[in-house]
Amino acid sequence: MTTDPAASLVEVAGLAKSFGDHHVLRGVDFTVERGTATVLLGPSGSGKTTVLRSLNVLETPDRGRVRIGDAAVDFAALPRSKAERRRTVKALRARSGMVFQAHNLFPHKTVLGNLVEGPVQVQGRRREEAEADARALLAQVGLAGREHAYPAQLSGGQQQRVGIARALALKPEVLLLDEPTSALDPELVGEVLAVIRDLAAEGWTLVIVTHEVRFARDVADQVLFLDQGVIAERGGPEVLVDPGEERTRRFLARVL
Ligand code: ADP
Repeated sequence: MTTDPAASLVEVAGLAKSFGDHHVLRGVDFTVERGTATVLLGPSGSGKTTVLRSLNVLETPDRGRVRIGDAAVDFAALPRSKAERRRTVKALRARSGMVFQAHNLFPHKTVLGNLVEGPVQVQGRRREEAEADARALLAQVGLAGREHAYPAQLSGGQQQRVGIARALALKPEVLLLDEPTSALDPELVGEVLAVIRDLAAEGWTLVIVTHEVRFARDVADQVLFLDQGVIAERGGPEVLVDPGEERTRRFLARVL
């Protein structure tokens, strides 16, 4: 794989993963350009979340390569030494930030405490600097002034926006979002999607698993439609308007 700075930010090749005899990913290949939004869509169980978690090595694929920026892992040829393996995985993991369905905020820490924990404890950054960055991120997700609130004092939508800010606080090169609105009450979905739209407009590199097809149409530069562990169709947002594949068409007819 390349270290050419003009190359794609993310490169995924031949990703395969089985759970027992269930082949969940059967050779997934794609690239993500810097500053673009990629949306992973497809039926439940098609492997979307497994792809996303593989980019962050929360899931370890059986085969395939993932490169983000200058960090790459070949899962079929992981280093033999445990320490070396850990170093390789850690380098890749540090390039991305993950936003989960449920935000997983620390309940006993304030919003600010949640945001500075990773930068200070994991990245060894100075607290004052991390707090200044955290305040700027809170403003960006529409939560300026709420830094001293505890998660339980916030709505689900606000909590998820803190979850997004927390992932960004680690300064990832790409933000991975795993169905970021699926645990929310319907009336809170819009505010979270609006924040993600803003991030896309600002040039963040995003990879998003979502069932929100209309949102996907608005935000996606690239659409990857997964079916049974392979990318069955790919293209620009027009794929969601006029799909070329029958299985994409059937999926859209069900969810729209
Ligand atoms: P999607 O995100 O498209 O709904 P997933 O990637 O979550 O799909 O899951 C794909 C398939 O892999 C599903 O059939 C799921 O049950 C299975 N799967 C995911 N994680 C595990 C696991 N840890 N153990 C066993 N099966 C799993």
